[in-house]
Amino acid sequence: MSNNDVRVRFAPSPTGPLHIGGVRTALYNYLFAKKNGGKLILRIEDTDQNRFVPGAEQYIIDSFKWCGIEFDEGVTAGGDYGPYKQSERKNYYREHAIKLIKSGHAYYAFDTPEELNKVRSDYEAEKRTFIYNADERKRLKNSLTLTDEETKALLLKGDPHVIRFKIPENEKVIMDDLIRGRVEVNSSVLDDKILFKSDGMPTYHLANIVDDHLMKISHVIRGEEWLPSLPLHVLLYDAFKWEKPKFAHLPLILKPDGNGKLSKRDGDRLGFPVFPLQWTDPKTGSVSSGFREDGYIAQAFMNMLALLGWNPGDDREIFSMDELAEEFTIERVGKSGSKFDPSKAIWFNHQYLIKENNNKLADMLLPIAESNGVLVEKDKMSKVIGIVKERANFAKDIWNQLDFFFVRPQEFDAKAVKKRWKHDSYDQMNELKDILYNINSFKSEHTEEVVKTWIENKEYGMGMVMNALRLLIVGALKGPHLFDIIAILGKDETLKRMDQGLNKLGRKE
Ligand code: GLU
Repeated sequence: MSNNDVRVRFAPSPTGPLHIGGVRTALYNYLFAKKNGGKLILRIEDTDQNRFVPGAEQYIIDSFKWCGIEFDEGVTAGGDYGPYKQSERKNYYREHAIKLIKSGHAYYAFDTPEELNKVRSDYEAEKRTFIYNADERKRLKNSLTLTDEETKALLLKGDPHVIRFKIPENEKVIMDDLIRGRVEVNSSVLDDKILFKSDGMPTYHLANIVDDHLMKISHVIRGEEWLPSLPLHVLLYDAFKWEKPKFAHLPLILKPDGNGKLSKRDGDRLGFPVFPLQWTDPKTGSVSSGFREDGYIAQAFMNMLALLGWNPGDDREIFSMDELAEEFTIERVGKSGSKFDPSKAIWFNHQYLIKENNNKLADMLLPIAESNGVLVEKDKMSKVIGIVKERANFAKDIWNQLDFFFVRPQEFDAKAVKKRWKHDSYDQMNELKDILYNINSFKSEHTEEVVKTWIENKEYGMGMVMNALRLLIVGALKGPHLFDIIAILGKDETLKRMDQGLNKLGRKE
């Protein structure tokens, strides 16, 4: 196969917001396509009318836009293999289901839900489980047990019916998976799955296989939860006499604590999002948090997800999308699930935040400043951001790290005052005010040298003086290097703050 033939797809069902496991599946497909010069297709699998949720498809599209995952073909990009929404492809599925009936691989089943429930409860009474399989189909009401005339008559009458796949009896089904290797099952453990429902819609299995074939999908890369469907899919390909794509089933993203798939409940319980964007349930109005709204940088979110299941073979962790596409291989996707680590997600965001352009961050911070009643020049904001961003994990935290640059302290942190404003502080700060008044250059290193020499000569406690000064300038014991702060504030403002603080705090008796 030449590289140009690599065609992969992400095929979500619009049943609600997209879990980060789904985003990771799409990401791996995207990286695989990029690495191999192939195409990525977005197909919407919306054949289950009962599970359709309004707004979910748009949510999926918006999520990928934010994540920076671009599709070459599909519901948004168009292409030669459309339509890319299964509800618009009904005819293909009926036609293919009928093909299978004709070739003896499928059959009409007329059992009503009531009849099947009855059989099921009879089985349960004998403590057995009912499966619609090779044995049972010989006893039930379907085109295998009815004569051709009877079947035709029922179809003509419009009796509700489904089309079921006729699982071969006692056959070895061999499945090859790029991550898990070879897996074998005996067909007798499988049931005759419905391919076509009485509502005129195909089931996931039929539609998925038909579309993957018609859309010339070369590799099916999807979540591990679809592994149990693989024997059926392999048998369907064989029944149609189609060449199978290569399969890769990705391991689950696990809870941070304990085992099992990461769920929304874990996110609610431990305080982190499990969806890329915020989602409002159209029925209940309940709002689920999103990585975007929680302040994550999209590339940081992608980088974190990429490493949740894949590794580059060494200890590098920071990768741009292009670097990921360069390095990504299915062989380096692990077999076992990866635990989602919320603190690692924050760490990734921090790494991207400190690399982010200060002007870009200033654009985000200016409206926050304004909503706090402060008008700031962009240049000054960028300069200050450069000094404090090292201490923030999210852009929204930056304001708390730098508000004091723009707002003179109105209050003084009571705990800090109790601990750091000592009997001598008032006089020492008055003395220091004179020292600062006489300094001409307020460059950080220079002020630092003058002030520290003065402290040493006077044999004052370094910590005591510096903490008291910080309290007057910042109002609390927070912020970056104090002489950097003073350098930005300038002499006038520094002295004003000292005066104001001295007046407010006075001499401690
Ligand atoms: N529609 C399925 C889903 O929602 C797609 C599974 C597959 O990729 O085959 O996950």
